[in-house]
Amino acid sequence: MLRHFFQSLTVISVMFSILYMADNAYAVSQTVRVLATTYPVYLLTKAVAQSSPALKVELLIPSQTGCPHEYALTPKDMRKLAEADIVVINGLGMEAFMEKSLNKVSHATIIDSSANVAVLHMSGHYVDRIAGENPHNNPINPHAFSSPVQAAIMVRTIGDALVKAVPEFAVECSSRAEAWAGRLEKLGKRLEIVGNRASIKDVMLLHDGMAYLVRDAGLNLVGILQENEDVPPSPTRLMEVSQSLRKHGPLLLVGETQYSDKPLRVLAAETGANVVVLDSVASGLDEASMEYYEQVMENNCRILEDSLDR
Ligand SMILES: [Zn+2]
Repeated sequence: MLRHFFQSLTVISVMFSILYMADNAYAVSQTVRVLATTYPVYLLTKAVAQSSPALKVELLIPSQTGCPHEYALTPKDMRKLAEADIVVINGLGMEAFMEKSLNKVSHATIIDSSANVAVLHMSGHYVDRIAGENPHNNPINPHAFSSPVQAAIMVRTIGDALVKAVPEFAVECSSRAEAWAGRLEKLGKRLEIVGNRASIKDVMLLHDGMAYLVRDAGLNLVGILQENEDVPPSPTRLMEVSQSLRKHGPLLLVGETQYSDKPLRVLAAETGANVVVLDSVASGLDEASMEYYEQVMENNCRILEDSLDR
């Protein structure tokens, strides 16, 4: 009788421990798939989710793509979209290339990282601006990530939204976001100092990617050299710009690592203006972290300090 009792006790305890293990294993293996659409949003999201082991952050398009204005989703991308629990988007129209697929394929919670940024419109071509074009009629500029000040806002938005979406898995996200935002704001302060001390305040950009950084540094963007995203300026346009620039005071020509700086070099040779190349972090290293974003922005600061602070 007693033997029987102990036998059943063993059976019960074994059953109990199996149940317990199964329960535990479930908790450990539970993952929330967080998919960031573009590279800069991926860096910011990864930083926020860093100490939340259940959040698995992935990047949708390849890290070297740069601005996905002309990108076409592959079957692999579609699969990632279908499997994601949360999709963090850049917003401001950057996802035009995938809008239809997102609604069709994905059941994920969407986090718009741009929800609280201080929005800019596309700057417009320099020649058209001189001719009186009003940039406020232009579409929204989606490249807010190029300014650490706006990136800080994006980081906070992502942190708050993750906590709201999956509170049980994102406990640390708010404090993480706050810490990163503070570091990014420090970089923003440094840029502001560069702008304040600059002897030349006027800037012409090759592409609209750096417009947010230019504004947040307190510099004056006089216009863009490219006529369209991802298309180098035509020789005729280049000549027109070169002619109008001769009437303009001293200014700095700013290229972007993601684009060829040839047109700017041509312009510099004709007008005597200085050229620098900055990195918008629209693309970058595959296995990068938020420190990479910071390093790139620090380098941008240094380049501007060297060329403007004289
Ligand atoms: Zn772009």
